[in-house]
Amino acid sequence: MTMNSTGRPTSISAADGAGTSVTVSGSKGLLQAEGLIFEIGSTDKTGVDLPRPKGTKSRLGGVTRSAPSGLPGLTEPEAVRHYVRLSQKNYAIDLGLFPLGSCTMKHNPRLNEKVARLPGFADVHPMQPQSTVQGALEVIEELAGWLMTLTNMPAVAMSPKAGAHGELAGMLAIRAALIAKGQGHRKRVLAPESSHGTNPATAAQCGFTVDEIPAAADGRVDMDALKAKLVDSSDVAGIMLTNPNTCGLFERDIKEIADLIHAAGGYFYCDGANFNAIVGRVRPGDLGVDAMHINLHKTFSTPHGGGGPGSGPTVLSEALAPYAPVPFILKTSEGLRFVEHHSEAPDSFGRMCAFHGQMGMFTRALAYILSHGADGLKQVAEDAVLNANYILARLKPLMSPAFAGYCMHEALFSDAFLKDTGIETIDIAKGLIDEGYHPMTMYFPLVVHGAMLIEPTETESKAELDRFCDALASIARRATQKDGSLKTAPHLAPAKRLDETRAARSPRLKWTPETTTLKAAE
Ligand SMILES: *Cc1c(COP(=O)(O)O)cnc(C)c1O
Repeated sequence: MTMNSTGRPTSISAADGAGTSVTVSGSKGLLQAEGLIFEIGSTDKTGVDLPRPKGTKSRLGGVTRSAPSGLPGLTEPEAVRHYVRLSQKNYAIDLGLFPLGSCTMKHNPRLNEKVARLPGFADVHPMQPQSTVQGALEVIEELAGWLMTLTNMPAVAMSPKAGAHGELAGMLAIRAALIAKGQGHRKRVLAPESSHGTNPATAAQCGFTVDEIPAAADGRVDMDALKAKLVDSSDVAGIMLTNPNTCGLFERDIKEIADLIHAAGGYFYCDGANFNAIVGRVRPGDLGVDAMHINLHKTFSTPHGGGGPGSGPTVLSEALAPYAPVPFILKTSEGLRFVEHHSEAPDSFGRMCAFHGQMGMFTRALAYILSHGADGLKQVAEDAVLNANYILARLKPLMSPAFAGYCMHEALFSDAFLKDTGIETIDIAKGLIDEGYHPMTMYFPLVVHGAMLIEPTETESKAELDRFCDALASIARRATQKDGSLKTAPHLAPAKRLDETRAARSPRLKWTPETTTLKAAE
């Protein structure tokens, strides 16, 4: 097989075991092959041709560029095609079901986008005098009110810009509260083995040490192990716990866990990323939670497939509220204004970011909440759980559910059904790509061997769920029949099986003119 300059095959070859999926052009089934912009552009092309100005003298005072900048140039149609071709290589929630567990990839209603683009919201600037952006402050205040009501918590920090950032806000508030009580020596934070990676990372970032609690056989916190960790609790700062947890299960003992932690002198941080499964049904404040971030981009729908934008407001209990970060909004007789400085918030642990948070996301989240209403939000949680259980029920006969019984918003399978087939979790995931789906979350949570975590969300119809289940069921059947072609899947995607380890360990992040092939990860 020969390679063209962008590293794609230029002749039909069966060498990769999938001859029919290789074309001369590298293009496939109405999808055009496309190189990097540096490979297809050249420094002598621009979108606009202007004649070289005559008889003018440079006013750059001798700092005129002496060599080309090296930026690639494209004509307008080339530039448009470049980005459209790239966009077609991107999987999107607007294209199909996005089964990634733990991520809540659901439909983002266009109404939210419309509202966020209203000039009065979209064109405000964080440095405008506050008297000129009273409407924007009202949006933040009204959203804050909804979040406190939905969680039954008395305070909320709106500025954190992602779930992990919200965790940081909550844990910094806990640290500040401990120090204020003369308990700064409490450094141990308990976290279940199944917890999201951001939980131990946040605790460590705040100077805490992480003590892992094992899971019981039913996928929930092992209560005996937890109690054993609290026998000497003088150094316990708190617990970080997700509910529903990352196994897609509700922690039934959550109230007892909260009581045990409080009795031990610690605080209860709840990771609220899975709030979508309980919104409108359960109020975390009723469960004894002291701090919890809410991923607005997950539960209250903002497009976040490319890793952003995010927003992670953090609700706080009475005990932690004084330590909340600035800025926060104060109602005065002249309207709303930000409290920005220590002089007005002496106990605040400080500031999370330059301004007040993600305005565009606040607007989207409020539009989402208001258009659903309290009853609609409750239905979101119910349908999310129903859909996940539908998938669990349909695939149960072919795959191995990680735990017995019903799940919450995610269906979790282990790789037990792949025993002795030679096929692994990653092969199932790659097979899904050929079937037109982004893979589910693989090998997470770590407590389940070869985990496959599927979160369909409430916005999928039964027909879509069936389409997805049919595809996954066919792969599961192929796997149990030891269909070796799964080992080299995907066969139909622009890039075939990648060397994942090399791609992760030695990624080529910089294009250099000398090595123009894309072989890094292929
Ligand atoms: C997504 C997620 C986070 C982190 O949220 P980001 O917005 O990605 O920073 C934390 N915990 C859980 C359980 C999550 O699913």
